[in-house]
Amino acid sequence: MTTYNIGFPRIGEKRELKFALEKYWKKEIALEELEETGRQLRLRHWAYQRDAGIDSIACNDFSFYDQTLDMIVTLGLEPERFRDIADPVKRYFAMARGDETHTAMEMTKWFNTNYHYIVPELGTGMEGEIDASGIEARYAEAKEAGVEHPRINLVGPLTFLANARRVDSNLEAITLLDEILPRYEALFERLAALDTELTVQLDEPIFVTDKVVELTLLIREVYNRLAGVDERLKLYVITYFDHAVEAAKILAKTPIEGVGLDFLYDEGRNFEALEALRDGDKRLVAGVLDGRNIWRSDLDRRKDLLDRIAAVLPAERIVLAPSCSLLHIPFTLKYETKLSAEVKSYLAFAVERLEELNLLDTLFRGDEPSASQQEALQRSREALTERRGNTRVTDAAVQERLKEAEALKRKRQTPFAERIAVQHERFGYKPLATTTIGSFPQTPELRRVRREYKQGAIGREEYERYIEEQIRSCVEFQERIGLEVLVHGEFERNDMVEYFGEQLSGVAFSENGWVQSYGSRCVKPPLIYGDVSRPEPMTVRWSSFAQSLTERPMKGMLTGPVTILNWSFVRDDQPRSKTCTQIALAIRDEVDDLQKAGIGMIQVDEAAFKEGYPLRGAKRGEYERFALESFWIATNVAESRTQIHTHMCYSEFADIIDTIEAMDADVISIETARSGNTLLRIFKERGYEMEIGPGVYDIHSPRIPSVEEIRAQIEALLEVLPPRQLWINPDCGLKTRGWPEVEASLEHMVQAVEEVRRERGIS
Ligand code: GLN
Ligand code: ZN
Repeated sequence: MTTYNIGFPRIGEKRELKFALEKYWKKEIALEELEETGRQLRLRHWAYQRDAGIDSIACNDFSFYDQTLDMIVTLGLEPERFRDIADPVKRYFAMARGDETHTAMEMTKWFNTNYHYIVPELGTGMEGEIDASGIEARYAEAKEAGVEHPRINLVGPLTFLANARRVDSNLEAITLLDEILPRYEALFERLAALDTELTVQLDEPIFVTDKVVELTLLIREVYNRLAGVDERLKLYVITYFDHAVEAAKILAKTPIEGVGLDFLYDEGRNFEALEALRDGDKRLVAGVLDGRNIWRSDLDRRKDLLDRIAAVLPAERIVLAPSCSLLHIPFTLKYETKLSAEVKSYLAFAVERLEELNLLDTLFRGDEPSASQQEALQRSREALTERRGNTRVTDAAVQERLKEAEALKRKRQTPFAERIAVQHERFGYKPLATTTIGSFPQTPELRRVRREYKQGAIGREEYERYIEEQIRSCVEFQERIGLEVLVHGEFERNDMVEYFGEQLSGVAFSENGWVQSYGSRCVKPPLIYGDVSRPEPMTVRWSSFAQSLTERPMKGMLTGPVTILNWSFVRDDQPRSKTCTQIALAIRDEVDDLQKAGIGMIQVDEAAFKEGYPLRGAKRGEYERFALESFWIATNVAESRTQIHTHMCYSEFADIIDTIEAMDADVISIETARSGNTLLRIFKERGYEMEIGPGVYDIHSPRIPSVEEIRAQIEALLEVLPPRQLWINPDCGLKTRGWPEVEASLEHMVQAVEEVRRERGIS
């Protein structure tokens, strides 16, 4: 074995699984048809990997929803509250998505990716039986399809537990190790019976986080025990997304077969881990090609990297792999017909990544490349050379402007206390001012019109009139129900990042570059391939039109630089911070154009600010610095009288509150509806001076909150913060909701505010 694929995407290169799942959920197809789609996809995905010459291929990296959820089922750890559902398929999807009588299990981000997993709900004395039948079926299926030595992928016990939640106590789930580990052992006994020799991969990305420090004793115990279950099982403990020095030192002394290390996202630290593996006979699964980003690899540089690794470990013990599962990148370039030839030549999706892996293996082992390999290598070198010299990649004007950016890395010149006085004077809004986060419902008709416009089926004038009508009726609606600070509704936007990406130079879009986010949901991130600039204003037209319809303040609505960066595939030929600065300059120009056009309040959304945080604490400072500086560059062009808002969609930021304050936005709206008021206490305890709109109801659910409920929420807020500092708004944009719910919910919100104001004599 010389090449190893950690995992392959499963949604289908044409999103076949997505469509089949959604039809099945709507009862438009039967279970058999869904299963047949799954089978066809698995066969195709194995064929791709075999054609690329990959030696170790997983038989069970496919899932109908999520790998961790599959693990929950395999280990017999379905929560008690779903056990009344007898049919296992119904139960599986009810756990994932909820049904009439069950709320879904919680879902959260898989480390610092945009993939979401189902959070296990655990307690003591869980009664389910382990169930290896799913894995056994996949193993047999893969063998029958001609996959040699199919590998079994499992979420490792320490990552599984670190990502789980205890529902029976406040203790961390890791305290259940003594109950969970025997289940892994029982499972291993079942698996061992499958073949004379079997490779098992245990994903343990928790080892690359600072949490590893608390786990060190457990790593030894767990892997000594698991490796001892049956000698037919060869265990590979795989880490990714950062270095795993601490864990590797321990794993080196356990009887496992191999360790996987990421040599791309480790900043060189995994060479220390390598030292620990030098003695002994462990194999190294060397993550040397990017599993998280989509650029063509520089194979000569990768070979150098491998040579350095081989200076520590003999080449026979080195197995080549992508840096992590390819789940995080799109399938194939095969269907990209609209990308420019240059940009396309800079890319490698999953299938192309595996071809690179094969080629790199040939180079590294010193084998004679075949004619087609030679040709591929030459194409690769040429593309990289062309990319370095391309003036659309390196834009002299943008480079020049970057010099100016240095002086802009600071807060606004007028301090907040002075600014806010000027702003109150200008806008005259009352305490508990009501507003929304930006988007209003996106109806099927609206989506159709936008699509028709994009495809050229309707002309620009007709399209613009249509959008104007949407804005007009949205503004009328907001005035009628008595909202005080209005928005235009974002009807012209399909997505908050795509809309800006499409108007920026240096950014391209694939047609089919979908990546699974959760379940059947996929995203198609923009490809930032070159220096970014803004040829023309992007939002002024719509914001000015909306402002012309009303006397009330109309918030301009922009996506912040950090969020654009974190939700894109970012070029790898310069530091991310530099790309972020370029985006910040483009947003800055937009902020300035908006204020010149008379838009007095401008919201710069940083929905993805938090998710960009590095996994290792040691890297945090650097990220925070450039993220903050980028936000400042984007917003400090605002005059004192221009009010800058920002919005973030999460509530766990007790640990980053200093950074949030340092962003220096006049008003921040955040999600608190689902998390109680603990967060607000933190604001109070540390004395936060800026204005805050803590979402008073949860927009992620179709439920309409009552006036009383919202009032109670406002009263709770007033226990911790004074009315002057508070804004009242939903906790996120309304685009995914229907109009009837939105109308009722917002009417209730406005009414609740009126009642509270009346009672407290606030005017
Ligand atoms: N302004 C955006 C909206 O309202 C913000 C979306 C988000 O926070 N994810 O849709
Ligand atoms: Zn949000």
